[in-house]
Amino acid sequence: MRTLEEAVGLLKERGVRITPQRTAILQYLLTHRTHPTADEIYRAIQPVYPNVSVATVYNNLRAFQEAGLVKELTTGDHASRFDINMTPHHHAICDVCGKIVDFYHPGLENLDDVLARELGFTVTEQRLEVHGVCPDCRGIPA
Ligand code: ZN
Ligand code: MN
Repeated sequence: MRTLEEAVGLLKERGVRITPQRTAILQYLLTHRTHPTADEIYRAIQPVYPNVSVATVYNNLRAFQEAGLVKELTTGDHASRFDINMTPHHHAICDVCGKIVDFYHPGLENLDDVLARELGFTVTEQRLEVHGVCPDCRGIPA
């Protein structure tokens, strides 16, 4: 998902009603690839849409998720984060500032074969979380 037109088109195709609030949430997700929480999105759009509540943002994100437009990321007891990048990818998580960065590592696809061979396991999705410390928190340039 790269553009708002693309996202809106997909929602229409899947029978999800388009509202100005929904468009604003999509726009936020498309321009902030930080895996925001519902609360972060709420605080960003609230000045423009004063009638919106955290609950409506959450419900809209739920609708996007059901339409296959976003993925909910749950990590431990932290608030859910939302990811509009539906291309298979993995996450590098900074344990200091909590930021989640997308990364791709095609070599990991071999894992499907390893699991099939060793466990008779059919992999439907791979989502790897790698923890560490990001360059900002290490105080060095990326
Ligand atoms: Zn960090
Ligand atoms: Mn992601």
